[in-house]
Amino acid sequence: MTDESKDLSEARREIDTLDQDLIQLLKQRMDAVAKVGAYKNAEDAQVIDPDREAQVAQAWTKASEESGLSTFFTKRILREILDHSRRRQETREEVTTATVRVGYQGIRASYSDLASDKLFAARGETCRSIGFETFEAAFDALDGGQLDYVLVPAENSLVGSIHAVSDLLVSRDVSVVDEEIWSIRHCLAGLPGATIEGLREVRSHPVALGQCRKSLRALGVREVDAFDTAGAAEELRDGKDLGVGVICSREAAEMFGLEVLSEEVTDQLPNETRFLLVGLRAQAVVPGVAVKTSLAFALDDRCGALSDCLSVFSDRGINLTRLESRPHPGAPWEYMFLADVMASRDDEAFREALLEIRSCVNFVRILGTYPSRTETRRPPSSETRSPVVPASDRKPKRPAKASPARGTRTVSVGGVPIGGERFTMILGPCAVESEQQIDAAAALVKAHGAHVMRGGAFKPRSSPRSFQGLGFPGLDLLVKAGRKYALPVVTEVLRLEDVDRIAATADMLQVGARNMQNFALLKELGRIRKPILLKRGMSATIKELLQAAEYILDGGNQQVVLCERGIRTFETATRNTLDISAVPVLKNESDLPVIVDPSHAAGVRHLVVPLALAAAAAGADGLIVEAHPNPEEALCDKDQALTAVELTELIEGLEPILAAKGRSL
Ligand code: PEP
Ligand code: MN
Repeated sequence: MTDESKDLSEARREIDTLDQDLIQLLKQRMDAVAKVGAYKNAEDAQVIDPDREAQVAQAWTKASEESGLSTFFTKRILREILDHSRRRQETREEVTTATVRVGYQGIRASYSDLASDKLFAARGETCRSIGFETFEAAFDALDGGQLDYVLVPAENSLVGSIHAVSDLLVSRDVSVVDEEIWSIRHCLAGLPGATIEGLREVRSHPVALGQCRKSLRALGVREVDAFDTAGAAEELRDGKDLGVGVICSREAAEMFGLEVLSEEVTDQLPNETRFLLVGLRAQAVVPGVAVKTSLAFALDDRCGALSDCLSVFSDRGINLTRLESRPHPGAPWEYMFLADVMASRDDEAFREALLEIRSCVNFVRILGTYPSRTETRRPPSSETRSPVVPASDRKPKRPAKASPARGTRTVSVGGVPIGGERFTMILGPCAVESEQQIDAAAALVKAHGAHVMRGGAFKPRSSPRSFQGLGFPGLDLLVKAGRKYALPVVTEVLRLEDVDRIAATADMLQVGARNMQNFALLKELGRIRKPILLKRGMSATIKELLQAAEYILDGGNQQVVLCERGIRTFETATRNTLDISAVPVLKNESDLPVIVDPSHAAGVRHLVVPLALAAAAAGADGLIVEAHPNPEEALCDKDQALTAVELTELIEGLEPILAAKGRSL
């Protein structure tokens, strides 16, 4: 036995032993869980204990960080364990499964907590509400499976929108499922024995203080900011100062043993806060009630885009009841709009509106359809209302169909349009190999008509022994070369967890053929605001390609470009069989731009130009072609890389074809 193989078998033995230990530890853990379950049973206590689960999760994360393990990885394992543990306990009990866990920002008796009690009483569900320090922490707990819902204030009738909540609704993969209105009537409260005249200081949340300013000024007291209204009440209970008052709800005053000194302190009534109940999945709305749909969208950068968008609703008689704009972090002076419309996502008129709106926005996502509690108007009668179609019966939506007036959607890649009059050339090497190579490649493709440069930093290779790409350092080199030669760049993303980091610098993200049905990755790409180049899987049908695109579109991101790159057939003369018919079929089925990759279809250099010309003739909106300054030394796909000679031939061949089709380079 060689030293290496001895080392290998020792390491494997170690793994086997560790696996046995893991199983034993899991078994011991489940036994302990069963003991807790038996205790809860005997005490008639709740099975689900979110506080305890949150503690466990924290300890787990801390330990993972300390030992250098990926918390992404360990959190997923914990989620499975907790899930299983909960179920083990639930099977012993019957009733507790009905209790829903609701997170809110604040402490007990804060307005969110009160609104939550009210809403769940109305919904006929037993709820257990859990306070969190921040909105973000509550959303994290929802995402982590420790909560069924969060209840958050969306806006106040005097103060307006709660921006932090709007931003979370847009950025998280959540769905608004209900709303609640809470009429706020602040009290001025003090310790037992305190008098209004004796107060010298009043504490509360700054917004609450602001809403009672006139009364407080008239009293001549000092105003002191506190973390929240109920928190101020709790703190006062623990103090002894009769000269201090708080502004809080009557419920909070009572809970913390304070005396209500006045209920006439709010400057203006009504003072209402609209709360949203947010879950992980959309819920069916009871038929016959007035419904509202919230959506978020970002506009294409053109004159009239906002009015076009809004008229899509008014043209169909859909009432828009709210419009808010939020800045887009990372893109100064671009905005995300949040709108509420009085319609269900299942209404025919709304569905049509959504299809149409897709042609004037680069991002649109439905945040939820839910019963409207702000409306006194009766719901439309059953004849005018379109039936609510259960999710399972709904026909899949197609990516926005081309409407004759608008034609193909245009996707902008770092300012370069794909899908307009011009034919777009994306050229560059298969992979980024070195600074010198990518610089030379950029110079080469710039000189031969490239509008955008390609270059893989993360390479999906059939063999694990092939060059895997330079990773993030490669991306940096690609971006640097792109800047130097004024070329936006496109690069492939392989892993879910790299999406944000790649999107921070690349102008477009490519989903390769091997990942076309990586649905988790597609969903993640639906949330970002960079264009996506979606390549057809090598054994995917056209329909499956369109369905993959819908995963991205449904997430909100409307900037999707489809790419035909050849499929596997019985033919072996070419690396793949370029399915030219996919071009007109896709153009007919969808309004997304369609480009062709002749390189991965051909596999060899001399076939690339003829296939590229065929693609242009078939009506493609552009090409993505591999080119290399020195193909002999290419680390990947050297046989299909074009040189200056073929690139010149390509441009010369394209010109008359494009001219005949009324397009230009
Ligand atoms: C690529 O474009 O580098 C690539 C790997 O292509 P595909 O995913 O089409 O094979
Ligand atoms: Mn390649």
